[in-house]
Amino acid sequence: MDVQALFKLSYGLYVISAHSGERDYGCIANTLQQVTAEPPRLSVALNRNSVTAKAILESGHFCGTVLTETADLKLIGTFGFQNSEAVDKFAAFSTGTDENGARYLTEHAAARYSCKVVDTLDLGTHLLIVGQVEEAETLSQEPVMTYDYYYRVVKGGTPPTAPSYRGNASAAPQPGKKKQWRCKICGYVYDGDPLPADFVCPICGKGADQFEPV
Ligand code: FE
Repeated sequence: MDVQALFKLSYGLYVISAHSGERDYGCIANTLQQVTAEPPRLSVALNRNSVTAKAILESGHFCGTVLTETADLKLIGTFGFQNSEAVDKFAAFSTGTDENGARYLTEHAAARYSCKVVDTLDLGTHLLIVGQVEEAETLSQEPVMTYDYYYRVVKGGTPPTAPSYRGNASAAPQPGKKKQWRCKICGYVYDGDPLPADFVCPICGKGADQFEPV
C-alpha cells in the first residue's frame, strides 16, 4: 500500500474543547467535519486515550473552533502537545465560554460550533464522536488554517497519536544544510548548532535534553 497516497487528503486545524468537573479541556484535531446539514452535525475523531475525549463523553458536549493562519506554534504546542489535566491550556489566550461551559478561543479563531454528542463510534485507536450543532458563531474573517499550511508554512509536527500521523515528514532535515537538532517528542527541527542549553521546544514545550542531533 502506498501510505503516501493518504497524505493527499486535505484537512483543517481545530481546537476541540469541553468542560467536565472543574476543568477545561482542549486539544488540537484535524478531523472535524460537517457530516449532515439538516440537522447540522459535525464529527471529530479523537484518540481514545485523550483526556479531552474523556471530558466530551462525560459532559455530553464539545466545542469545535476553527483556527486561522495566525495561530502560531505556541498556541498549537499548548493545545496539541500539553495535557489538559496538567496545565490550563486556555490561560494565555483570549477565550469565551459556551452555554455548556466549554471554553473556546476568541483569538486565532475563525468560527466555533458548540455541539451536543449524539453518537460515538469506536474505531479502535480512536473514537469518532458525532455532535449536533446547538450554537455556531463566526469569530473572524482571517484565512483558516489548513493542515497543509501548518506543515508547509508553520512547519509544525504531529504527535504519533493523531489519526493522520505523517511521521513529521515536513519537519525532516534538509540535505546539505548545517547541523540540526530534532525534538524527540514532536519532531520539531531546530536549525543550527549548538542547540542552546536553555532551548525550549516551541511546539511541545520540552527542553533541550529531549533533542537529538540529525
Ligand atoms: Fe517538541
